[in-house]
Amino acid sequence: MVVHEPGGNLDELRRSVREWCATHIPKDWQDQQRGATNDELVAFLRWWGAELRATGLLVPHWPKEWGGGFSIPEQVVIAEELARGGAPRNGLYHVGVFNAAPTLVHSATPEQQQRFLPGILNGEVWCQGFSEPNAGSDLASLQTRAVLDGDNYVVTGQKVWTSWAQVADWCMLLVRTDPEASKHKGITLLVVDMHSPGIEVRPIKQAYGASDFNEVFFDEVVVPVDQRIGRENDGWAVAQGTLAAERAIFILEMTERLRLNGIEAAVREAAGWRLESGEPALEDAGVREAIAESYAEAEVLRHILNAMIENVIRGVDVGGTSAIIKIFYAEVIQKLMRAVTGWQGVRGQLDEPLLECAGWETGFWMNDYIHSFGHAIGGGTSEIMRNVIGERMLGLPR
Ligand SMILES: Cc1cc2nc3c(=O)[nH]c(=O)nc-3n(C[C@H](O)[C@H](O)[C@H](O)COP(=O)(O)OP(=O)(O)OC[C@H]3O[C@@H](n4cnc5c(N)ncnc54)[C@H](O)[C@@H]3O)c2cc1C
Repeated sequence: MVVHEPGGNLDELRRSVREWCATHIPKDWQDQQRGATNDELVAFLRWWGAELRATGLLVPHWPKEWGGGFSIPEQVVIAEELARGGAPRNGLYHVGVFNAAPTLVHSATPEQQQRFLPGILNGEVWCQGFSEPNAGSDLASLQTRAVLDGDNYVVTGQKVWTSWAQVADWCMLLVRTDPEASKHKGITLLVVDMHSPGIEVRPIKQAYGASDFNEVFFDEVVVPVDQRIGRENDGWAVAQGTLAAERAIFILEMTERLRLNGIEAAVREAAGWRLESGEPALEDAGVREAIAESYAEAEVLRHILNAMIENVIRGVDVGGTSAIIKIFYAEVIQKLMRAVTGWQGVRGQLDEPLLECAGWETGFWMNDYIHSFGHAIGGGTSEIMRNVIGERMLGLPR
């Protein structure tokens, strides 16, 4: 049953999403997932994706004809209520829902949209094959080659850090189609069937136990030309098609999780934890200060996000602001995790980790401490974001 149609009253939308969260988010899902294997985690995230899908909350930002159609203020309400309700974060569908779909809506033909968008809605998993061993921040240096052979491209090369490739059905792959052109010009975006012969996925095990990153090897993989998105050699522009609005709403949900659940959980943790000295952690001035500082910073972050979303609605370019928000979010979350794991000391490492979600949601803070470093790297490192701010906002020379 769909909780609410787009275009109604915002308070009613909030009420229905809140009620839905209260009745549908399993109260003990964190405990159930504690110590889960990767396969169990994937099964759980598939189930949760299906719940969101059935109720119309998986893709509120998509166009109406594809199952979305909620305005930006409505999307904000939905993101706030999912965060407030402590809903599981669904990384498994992130690329399909937030990256691939907007790119397809923006740049694919109607036939391609008809072919791929319903699959994303029905639970197909997508991954993003952009980074390579020698092309991360400098993505335009990518070397994976695609050579046209009749009606097909033949792809050979290697990608790395490809999240969820081990279970993905499709990959949004950036390949080099013209090695003679200048490096931003000779790139093309292909949609690749991850079940094709010639693809080998090697999971990379992370420090907290999960293996949701991979190396992906392509050995003469055949990709039909009708799976090219946009024109040949125009892939750089096509790959930028993810809209600012989607990024803003996604980070807003993350910020709300931190602001509402994360800080509150840190207070609860401090109230129940004794320091080595025997003193309750919450009595310690340093602990109190660290929590208060994170709280104040999370509030500031939310205010910057509000201003950015207003600009998105007004159609103002927000390029530099999203870089500020990305750096700031990574710093706030790292600081809070460092504070909690700092006062916990080694005793905080004795618990069973939960593979893919935040420590404040699971009580396993060490997991989230390790995970928090990724926020300063994935989707553009903090150093690159500083370059963006310097060049685009402050007008500094390159
Ligand atoms: C959680 C997570 C998920 C990811 N998922 C995916 C995915 O699904 N698909 C995918 O394709 N990739 C993914 N990545 C990879 C990510 O996009 C890259 O790690 C990122 O772009 C940085 O590239 P790199 O690791 O090659 O580091 P490099 O680019 O080699 O950078 C190394 C260091 O040098 C600094 N540096 C580099 N250039 C400059 C410069 N011009 N000025 C100042 N400093 C600079 C960087 O800031 C960094 O500190 C993911 C990464 C993370 C952490």
